[in-house]
Amino acid sequence: MSDSIKIGVSACVTGERVRFDRTHRRSAYLTETLAKHVEFVPICPEIACGMGIPREPLRQVDCAGEIRLIAYESGKDLTAKMTNWAKRVFKGLDKEGICGFVLRVHSPSCAVNKSSIYSTQGTPPRLGPGFFTRLLQEHDPLLPVVSSEGLQNSVQRENFIRRVFVLHRWRALTAKGTSIGNLVDFHTRHKMLIRAHDLGGYRELGRLLGESTMHNAEAIFDRYGTLLFKALTLKATPSKNRDVLTHAAGYFKKDLDAEDKRELHAAITAYAKGKVPLLVPVTLLNHYARKYRAPYLTQQYYLNPEPDELKLLNHV
Ligand code: SF4
Repeated sequence: MSDSIKIGVSACVTGERVRFDRTHRRSAYLTETLAKHVEFVPICPEIACGMGIPREPLRQVDCAGEIRLIAYESGKDLTAKMTNWAKRVFKGLDKEGICGFVLRVHSPSCAVNKSSIYSTQGTPPRLGPGFFTRLLQEHDPLLPVVSSEGLQNSVQRENFIRRVFVLHRWRALTAKGTSIGNLVDFHTRHKMLIRAHDLGGYRELGRLLGESTMHNAEAIFDRYGTLLFKALTLKATPSKNRDVLTHAAGYFKKDLDAEDKRELHAAITAYAKGKVPLLVPVTLLNHYARKYRAPYLTQQYYLNPEPDELKLLNHV
């Protein structure tokens, strides 16, 4: 498996002039920050499946429950063309091992969830994923996706980056086979991170590992991967992060004096209130984990992300 992390991106957000009117929608965060740490696989679904530039805009239309991709002025139906192309391209993306997708907001092809879907019944349009995005999510429901607009939001950005790096580590693990020992080690290092997303999912994963034997490793890996990425689809909100940080602070209840405890809990509270970034209580916890030798904490990806992951999480 390649060491670099590959991410699919809507080509127009990388600055390529591929929109219907020959413009782009370059995302500064994507091209100036994310690009330094991951490798992009840019795709413009509309161009790739044979439409030109300029081209007439498209829209999605709900035809008796079936969503079709229709050219706005000519009424040309591009549903089959886009669907057939997408099936072919997904095989290539699977081979590339992409670990996530950044998609252009508000596009009838690429939107994550803000594309207007028109009705033939005259009712107001509803919002949903773009045509290509829906096919992508049907193909791989657990692939991390985010809109270029979502990358501007610190919670959405952090959740996306975390999930991308976990998926990359998961692929590296599964490339080595199905050793339960390796899986337990993987799980141990991700415990705090998973808890921050989904406490119920974290418990379910623990129970699953309790059922593992030498004879059911393949089934356990399959189930573990599904449950893990399902758990990570839930957002790690400030209040969930606060619970995880408070739990970690409990490791030092015998080591810290009253003033240090107050300072640590003040940092956690300030984070939960949005006054300081997550990095502030995390750095403090890391400091204590090393000082008081708490190996469980020092090995947590939640507290010690990989260098590229850390740089992206630190971005303000
Ligand atoms: S939103 Fe998607 S289909 Fe539209 S121009 Fe950008 S990459 Fe192409």
